[in-house]
Amino acid sequence: MDRIYLDYAATTPALPEVIAGMLPYFKDNYGNPSSIHSFGQEAKAAIDSSREKIAKSIGAKAEEIVFTSGGTESDNFALEGVAFKNQEKGNHIIVSKIEHHAVLECAEFLGKHGFEVTTLPVDRFGVVNPEDLKKVLTDKTILVSIMHANNEIGTIQPIAELSKIAKEKGIYFHTDAVQSFGHLPINVDKLGIDLLSLSGHKFYGPKGIGALYIKKGTRMVPFLHGGGQERNRRASTENVPGIVGMGIASEIVHLNLTDEINRETVLRDKLINAILKNIPDTILNGHPTERLPNNANFSIKYIEGESILLNLDMLGIAGSSGSACTSGSLDPSHVLLSIGLPHEIAHGSLRLTLGRFTEEKEIDYVIENLPPIVEKLRAMSPIYKKES
Ligand SMILES: *Cc1c(COP(=O)(O)O)cnc(C)c1O
Repeated sequence: MDRIYLDYAATTPALPEVIAGMLPYFKDNYGNPSSIHSFGQEAKAAIDSSREKIAKSIGAKAEEIVFTSGGTESDNFALEGVAFKNQEKGNHIIVSKIEHHAVLECAEFLGKHGFEVTTLPVDRFGVVNPEDLKKVLTDKTILVSIMHANNEIGTIQPIAELSKIAKEKGIYFHTDAVQSFGHLPINVDKLGIDLLSLSGHKFYGPKGIGALYIKKGTRMVPFLHGGGQERNRRASTENVPGIVGMGIASEIVHLNLTDEINRETVLRDKLINAILKNIPDTILNGHPTERLPNNANFSIKYIEGESILLNLDMLGIAGSSGSACTSGSLDPSHVLLSIGLPHEIAHGSLRLTLGRFTEEKEIDYVIENLPPIVEKLRAMSPIYKKES
């Protein structure tokens, strides 16, 4: 069997249509979109069309989309853009404990530059309780940032309910939808949000391109200072091929959304049920039902996540433990610790994330091959012998 890729939450392959659509913008239509001549105008038209496609896929208007260099920049832009513009109104920002590092580290940075940051806890499934949000709002609160769905455990937050609480007090609400786009329907008005982050490479577009939805009227400072691109909100010559590629990807993903959700859910549930049944002392992390259709995250007790990954890799199966950003560090994931897992269990976690090219026979192969790997590793584990 070919290699099996079950790490779609880390990144996805660019679709052939995406690559084909991008190529002309490297080679023939390479003009600078700010130029008056036809080369420039072709590039500008391509950007406009891509902006329309992305806006349409989330129920926004084209002028509410700003292109960025990725999910990280979109998150940083949302937080810093609002924070620095609305300082005279207040200096209080609220995030959740299980945000991506792109939000958490940015909030920490703001915390060192005159802002007060409150970090909301989550329950054992990774859900933020709207009552907790109500309790921490003050008249100095200017921004709430809570992710749509978590990248590690797949938990979906009650965004509409949370945003309503912020909105009633006139507080901006940002959501990081990098993981949910392409796996959940997204409509910015129904979700009631002011700012939303996207990243091209998480939905079959290229790497190094992202978008930030900024609801009309939201008060922000620009993120990059320089030329007047992106209506003075983000300077720098546009990444035209990247923007074109992300636009095509958004359109394809949006068109196939319902089918893809159904297909992924069936495969995900087959995987989850078989692993929980066939491997003793294993738990599913995240919410049993309010979870991304492509996410399975397990804690397999008595063994290290890293050793499972290495053994799976030898069979050509690519998974992850925690997120790609924290893999390689010895600290257990902040998400798993936040849902209350003790350190030793948080270390034994395995995330398998599915996507467009995942086939049932690949899931069957994992179901067949994971239990013997776990058995072998546990047989070598001193803690397993002692405790069992
Ligand atoms: C991947 C990811 C990001 C960062 O996106 P980049 O485009 O890689 O910078 C931010 N938030 C979440 C939830 C992610 O999964």
